[in-house]
Amino acid sequence: MQKEEIIKIILKLKPDIDLTTLNYYTNYFYVLSQKPNIIELNKIEQLIENGLSYAREIVFYDENSEIYKDLGPDCKGLRDPKSRIIYIRGDLKEPLREITVYHELHHAVQTNPLNDEVGINQESNFGRLIMEAQTQYFSEEVYKKIHNIDFEERKIPSEELRMLNGGIIVSSMHNYEMYDSMLSKLAIVLGTDKNFLFQLTMNIQIMKEWKD
Ligand SMILES: [Zn+2]
Repeated sequence: MQKEEIIKIILKLKPDIDLTTLNYYTNYFYVLSQKPNIIELNKIEQLIENGLSYAREIVFYDENSEIYKDLGPDCKGLRDPKSRIIYIRGDLKEPLREITVYHELHHAVQTNPLNDEVGINQESNFGRLIMEAQTQYFSEEVYKKIHNIDFEERKIPSEELRMLNGGIIVSSMHNYEMYDSMLSKLAIVLGTDKNFLFQLTMNIQIMKEWKD
């Protein structure tokens, strides 16, 4: 799908969207639309509509704002379910700042319209792990595609999470290396790949049917 087509759909659904929000939405859905399995299982309009219904605006806040006083210095961003606004720390360094926008947007898109729950199995640690890991995985992918870059692969020593010989986990993700390594291991255990875990949580139909 072309960016222009994505913009058209977003504007049709939300004509009063501000430019910053439109820009991030367009980038995110442009990369998402390149994922053939996702688009076969869900119409892109349906996903955009779901995203907009849970996140109508992206707002950056600074240290002087009330939100900062509420959330404290450790919070990078969040989705406020009441106002349906994604709040992002404005003083985060890039690329973390932009990746965090995609991360929160991804949660919004994956929110189940039947029960307002994000993704699958949030009650279990297993479900939360898949959810957070694939969210970070895909938000970094959006950033890399949009900016046409790749993050340098780093070797991360791991005492506790030994998988490869010598206890080295290889990760090219920029952030959340622990999630990346766990997602990789999970994929190996399940005999699948990281894309499958991402696909699983992106399918609104599956989420609707997912009861346990
Ligand atoms: Zn998250």
